[in-house]
Amino acid sequence: MLGPYFAEGQAANPSITLPEDDVEAMTWLCKALHFKLSANERLISFGLGRKLATLCDKYDTSVAISSWSAMWMQNWKGSVDGNISYAPLLYMSYAFGNHEAFWCTSRDIMQYYTTNEIKQIANELQSEILPYRLFDSINAERTKTLLRLQTTIEDMLPPFINDKCPEMSSCRLLTVAGYYLSELIRLGLWPLSRIVEQTSINTIASQIEHFENFDETSHEDEEDGWGGRTSSGGKKNRRGKKFEVWQESCSVPEIDCKKLLQDAASVASKALQGLCLNCIKEGKVTTEEGNCQARSQWDCQMQQTKESTQIATP
Ligand SMILES: [Zn+2]
Ligand SMILES: [Zn+2]
Repeated sequence: MLGPYFAEGQAANPSITLPEDDVEAMTWLCKALHFKLSANERLISFGLGRKLATLCDKYDTSVAISSWSAMWMQNWKGSVDGNISYAPLLYMSYAFGNHEAFWCTSRDIMQYYTTNEIKQIANELQSEILPYRLFDSINAERTKTLLRLQTTIEDMLPPFINDKCPEMSSCRLLTVAGYYLSELIRLGLWPLSRIVEQTSINTIASQIEHFENFDETSHEDEEDGWGGRTSSGGKKNRRGKKFEVWQESCSVPEIDCKKLLQDAASVASKALQGLCLNCIKEGKVTTEEGNCQARSQWDCQMQQTKESTQIATP
C-alpha cells in the first residue's frame, strides 16, 4: 500500500488515513500480512470475515493472505456463527480468491437452493465485488440439472399407459399409472413445471427416498380379483375374470420406478459442477461464455493452455 506506485509511498515519512476502511478489519489484515496473528485468531465471525474479504479485494492482497483466509474459511464454516449459510461463504471465497472454496460453495448453492433463495442471496450480498450475473449463472446451472431430472420423472409414466386398452375403465395398467402419478404429487414432485422453480435438487433427492413402488400384494384381496399371488409370492389360479382380460391386453412393465428416480437423482447430483473463479475473474461468468467449471485453478490453466495450443496448431 505504501509502494512507490502510490502517492503516499513517495513521501519521506508516509502516513495515511483510510477513513473508508474498517479499523478492526484493517488491523487484522495488517497483522495477517506481517504474520502477527496469534493462534486464537484462527476463528473469525462472518461480519469480520466479510469486511476483511472486502479489504483484500480492494487492496489486492488475497494471494498474500491466502493461507490465513483458507484457514478462516475452513474454521468458519459453521463453527463461529453456528449454522452454515452459503451466501457468506460465496462472498468470502470470491473476495479472498479461494478457488476451490468458491467452486464448492457455488456448487452447494446449486444443490441446496431454490430459484427464489438464489435471488434472495443475490440481494443479500448486493455489493460491488460480486458480479450480479454470477447468480443468474448459478441458477442456470441448477435449472439445467433439474430439467434433466424432470425428463426422467416425465418419462417414467408413459410405459404404464396403454391408450389402446380394450378395458380402459378397469385397466390395471392405468391403476398403476394413476398410483405413480399420485405418489409423485404426494411427494411434491408433480407438477413438474413447479418443481424447477420452487424445489431444490437436494429436496427432490430426499423426497425420492420416500417414494414407494406399486405394491401388488396390497391390492390382492380387492373384489375384482386383480391380485393372484400366494403368500409365497407365486401366481395361482385365484385370479378374477378382469384379471384375465387385463393379462391378455396389458401387461405391467417390470420397472423399478424408485430405483429409476434414485439413479437419476444421484446422476444429477454428481453432474453438478461449481463455477470456476479464474474464469469469472476473466469475465466468463456463465458456461455459455466459456466458464470451464474447473475445481482447481491449476485445471483451469491447464485447459486454457491446451486450448491455446490447439488454436496454434490447427
Ligand atoms: Zn389395460
Ligand atoms: Zn476456468
